[in-house]
Formats: sequence, C-alpha cells, structure tokens
Amino acid sequence: MGMKVYLLDNGTLLLDQSFATWNHGQGIDFRFPVYAFYVDHPDGKVMIDTGFDKAWVERKLPFEKPEQSAEQTIEAQLAKIGVRPDEIDIVINSHLHFDHCSNNKLFPQATFYFSKSELRHSYVPDPWERLGYDPELVVMPGMKAELLDLGHYEYEVLPGITLIETPGHSAGHLSIVLRPGGDTPPMVFPVDVAYTRHNLEDKVLMGLHTDPLELLDSMARIENIAKKIGGTIFYSHDPEEYAGYTLCPGYYGG
Ligand SMILES: [Zn+2]
Repeated sequence: MGMKVYLLDNGTLLLDQSFATWNHGQGIDFRFPVYAFYVDHPDGKVMIDTGFDKAWVERKLPFEKPEQSAEQTIEAQLAKIGVRPDEIDIVINSHLHFDHCSNNKLFPQATFYFSKSELRHSYVPDPWERLGYDPELVVMPGMKAELLDLGHYEYEVLPGITLIETPGHSAGHLSIVLRPGGDTPPMVFPVDVAYTRHNLEDKVLMGLHTDPLELLDSMARIENIAKKIGGTIFYSHDPEEYAGYTLCPGYYGG
C-alpha cells in the first residue's frame, strides 16, 4: 500500500502519577510524552491528533508544566519531512482532550473526523472532565467535519486507516489501527484507552475516565483486535515505551 507513518514528537506534560494509575501514586510526578502522527497515504495526507499548544497550557493549566522546544511544535515536525500544514487533506481526532486537538487550527482546509459525542463533551463537559476540553481548540468557522457515531462498527477513513470506538476514557474516544502493508505489522494505537503498557497489560485504569467499566471493556476489545491481526501496540503517554519508538523524520511502513 505504501503508507508511511510518522510519529511527531510534541514535547511533554506533567501530572500527578495518580492520573495515570487510579488511586495510586499520589504526590509523585508523572512527566509523559505527547505525540501526534502523520500518515503519508497514497490517497491523501492525513494527520491523526494534533498535539498540544504550549502557550494554551501555560495559560489554562500551568500546573502541567509543558515542555516543548521550537523543534517540537507540529509545524516544525512536519517541516522536517517537507510537509506544509495546508497540504493536509484529513485530520482525525481520537478524542477532543486538549493534548490531542490543540493544533486543529493549523489545518482549516482539511476534513475533520471525530465522534459526535466528543463535541458535546467539549462544549458541556461533565464536572470532573472540565479541564480536558476547550471547544475553541476544536471548532473553526467553515470547518468541514464528519461527526462519527460508530457504536460497535469500525470505520475505514482510507484503505488501511481504521477507527474503532473505545469509550471509557472519554465519551466518544476512538482507537486507530493502521495497516501500512509490506513487512510492517499492523500498528494498533489504543490512544488514551491506555496511557502506558502497565495500564493495558495489568488492567490498571487511569485516574481520568468517564466510565471505568466501559474503559475496561475497551481495553479488552483493543487487546483482542491486536492479537487477532498480529498488531504492534503503541502507547499514547508511556515514557519508557516512547524511548524505543522511531520518531519523525524516521517512519514506519513505506
Ligand atoms: Zn485523553
């Protein structure tokens, strides 16, 4: 298929460890990586998630102490491989927490895909998820968007790019499976179904969730899919795993 998958390093954020391991680790710092990904697909240029904006975090959530060098902005990451933001055709937001959608504004010409229920939570969050959302990061005048409501169906955005609804961390959370083809095994991105390998393998929930039982269900679902298709799981915010990933300008597939 000739799909290339680039992981775009976007810097790090800080939270209390208990956000990553529910009811455990209070008072311990957890500094974790944030990344977006860019897929160079024969049928189009695709961004999956768009990372965080350092200035926004400093203003709204200063306790997350964002670290992001000039090289770690999404524009700078794309520039490393000669891609301009205005060339992007499609943007997929796994969910609308700020560290997954804050640079949507770079892609006003793209068609966006995300879950309809995420939009509701962005505008009207439940009390405990207030800090995660800001609709101003998401919505733009004249925006083209496909609002998904997948339930237990899967949705193929382009051949080899499949979205799977995995609620629990957030109401309309989507996980992503990429099939680059060739020698590269399918790449499974649970995204925030599991920040870390420890979350998934030991069924340790993160502190932030909308429904713990739904989240456990989503964990099992994503593990089963990965096993069935022989996929490699990539974790969204796991400092140890991240150290072993190939980052842009390196890529997976081809
Ligand atoms: Zn999240």
